Amino acid sequence: MRAEPGSLAFRASHDALTTLPNRACLQERLASLHHSAKKHGATYSLLLLDLDHFKVVNDRFGHATGDQVLVQVGRRIVRNLREPNSVGRWGGEEFLCLLPEVNRPAAEKIAERIRVGIEAWPVEFQGRRIPVTSSIGVATFPNDGRHPDVLLAKADTALYEAKRAGRNRIRSIRGQVGNMFETARIIEKSLREDRVRPAYQAVVDLVSGEVRGTQAMARVELDDHRVMEAASFIPAAEQLHLVHRIDHRILLDAIMRCTTRGPNDKPTPAMFVNISADFLHHSDLVEEIRATLERQCVRSGDGRDDVNPLVIEITERRFMDDTKTANEWLQPLLDAGVRIAIDDFGGGASSLGYLIELPISFIKLEGTLVRRVRHERRVRSILKGIRQLASDLGITTVAEGIENQETLEVLREIGVDWGQGFYFSRPAIQPRQGPGNRMITR
Ligand code: GH3
Ligand code: MG
Ligand code: MG
Repeated sequence: MRAEPGSLAFRASHDALTTLPNRACLQERLASLHHSAKKHGATYSLLLLDLDHFKVVNDRFGHATGDQVLVQVGRRIVRNLREPNSVGRWGGEEFLCLLPEVNRPAAEKIAERIRVGIEAWPVEFQGRRIPVTSSIGVATFPNDGRHPDVLLAKADTALYEAKRAGRNRIRSIRGQVGNMFETARIIEKSLREDRVRPAYQAVVDLVSGEVRGTQAMARVELDDHRVMEAASFIPAAEQLHLVHRIDHRILLDAIMRCTTRGPNDKPTPAMFVNISADFLHHSDLVEEIRATLERQCVRSGDGRDDVNPLVIEITERRFMDDTKTANEWLQPLLDAGVRIAIDDFGGGASSLGYLIELPISFIKLEGTLVRRVRHERRVRSILKGIRQLASDLGITTVAEGIENQETLEVLREIGVDWGQGFYFSRPAIQPRQGPGNRMITR
């Protein structure tokens, strides 16, 4: 039951200036909206609105006029909403709309209607016309988060994006960006349930077409069997210090699949795995990997082959800015014969310095450069240069992201050694190894 205007209950739950529901009231309504949406498997959306450059309005026209603008903006929002949708004053010049059973596209439409409704007519007060615009962030349950706090945070991030993009616009945040805590929850649950696993992709000799190795790529299998790709969870995992646990899991699975000798006396196939600087900080995990690697290689090798199949790929600036420390961190693995690849070479973070300081065996050429090589002469020149440099240093070049025959031919002409990409094989999650083969302990 809603409080009668003027009553004590009304005053406790409504904002004195605009007479709209106040923050406490909105929080209560949001909690009950969430509860009922969860119970009925329904959706709902939030709009968080903040007036643009409101300080300027106060400065130019005075605080009393600013107040009047708030009152009138509140009325305009109300006029653009129909029951059961509602709006309240979330704080200063921020308003929050609660939209039960409204999905994202519908919420975006309502937000746009409100934005236009505010922009189209300057507020008139004491014979003055005051132009006002607003920015609005949209978040939808359950797509953007499964908890009201997550949704509010997401609407706030979207609002911030709208401001940054120039104000007087609406924004919603799609996918995982800005939804870090939700992503972290999924990762932790998946780690517990052993659903963080690698997908494998073949690495091929560009001249002979023979398979020279395998790349392990981190994936998260969701409850509904959809698969999350590394790009959508690694940034959150890095920020929330979960990435070393993912690296550890992927490394263990990959090592269990290593062999120390190729078929018919062919060279040992390489196993490429990405690791973070964070992982190397956990010396207990590094030691476990080293020991597992040793056991596994001794067991499956025939004693004649001393090449370690594991190649760890490093990207981060943190390795590169301090190569001396990086060398120390890498030492236990280097001692075990693990080789190092620089990932995403030619991309944003590459520098030639670490080719001097770190014992690099492979350079992986960044996928976006590889995709441009067919059409752009300058890109071709750069890759030729890298190829030449690598071969002088005894480093093998590996192109990522090869998607068609034409690209393959250009790369071959340049002399790039190996490659991987959809053209050869799509990454696939393999069935688990048999129980006799499993040594996964965590
Ligand atoms: P932005 O576009 O980045 O939102 O710029 P802005 O100037 O609106 O900046 P911000 O949201 O940080 O500032 C809000 C201003 O709103 C600051 C404060 O003086 C003013 N304000 C907050 N509550 C009231 C109120 O009740 N009455 C009046 N007149 N002004 C208020
Ligand atoms: Mg504000
Ligand atoms: Mg503002």
